[in-house]
Amino acid sequence: MRLSAGVLLLAGSWLAYTQNQGRGPSNKLNKIAADLYEIEGDGGNVAVYITNEGVILVDDKFEYDFNDIVDKVKSVTSQPIKYVLNTHHHGDHTGSNAKFPPATEFISHVNARKNMIDGKMPGAPRVTFTQETAVFLGGKEVRARYFGRGHTNGDVMIYFPALKILHTGDLMAGTSPLIDYGGGGSLLEWSATLDEALKLDFDTVIPGHGPVAKKADLVAFRSNVDKLKNRVTGLLRQGTSKDDIAKVMTSEFGWMPGGLQMTRGFDRMLAELKR
Ligand SMILES: [Zn+2]
Repeated sequence: MRLSAGVLLLAGSWLAYTQNQGRGPSNKLNKIAADLYEIEGDGGNVAVYITNEGVILVDDKFEYDFNDIVDKVKSVTSQPIKYVLNTHHHGDHTGSNAKFPPATEFISHVNARKNMIDGKMPGAPRVTFTQETAVFLGGKEVRARYFGRGHTNGDVMIYFPALKILHTGDLMAGTSPLIDYGGGGSLLEWSATLDEALKLDFDTVIPGHGPVAKKADLVAFRSNVDKLKNRVTGLLRQGTSKDDIAKVMTSEFGWMPGGLQMTRGFDRMLAELKR
């Protein structure tokens, strides 16, 4: 886990997704298309794209999920896992990186790699990019694209053009945005980031956490991001106290009351929106 306890406390619903309950892996393999599966349960959602030259994964959950991920991939193909695209640096999406054999190549945004190095996290990718990259394997194409800041400063979305499916990473997770300011996140820029992503041609969304969704759900999530931003900005303009803003956050946006007061993230969100 790379998120501070404070950041985690920001969003109660998000806790359930990210906490290791100490029970070991509890994941389910879901078929989304003929050659695309999703592994859902612990940590972030993993995408499994099968080609006749190898498998491309998106994210790899926690370290303790490694064997389970490999077993689930083996249950649907004999092809080796050749590439892992990390959507961002958080440990519930990169936790198994260091467990893979050296032949597996890892790719992330340059900022995500930097966040991993700065946080002394194992398994930092050897290959990075700034705007867009793609993997071509077995006649199939997967694109990784950076649309701007949001959850962190290094989130990318993974696009499967032939399937019109988009893995959003934590730029969409739960119902309300969780901003990791320590990891370069920004509530102010988040909706513009999603606007760029929404220009892509896709029908199905694999969010960072939670069940597979539709493009309309990403549109709804984007409006929740805007709602949060506009509500807090409006309260700040009225001179509302921090305590009263905190009350709105818990009553209207489901943030946890205890954690809110002590988190750095809350203060940094207010500072960002005051500008
Ligand atoms: Zn995350």
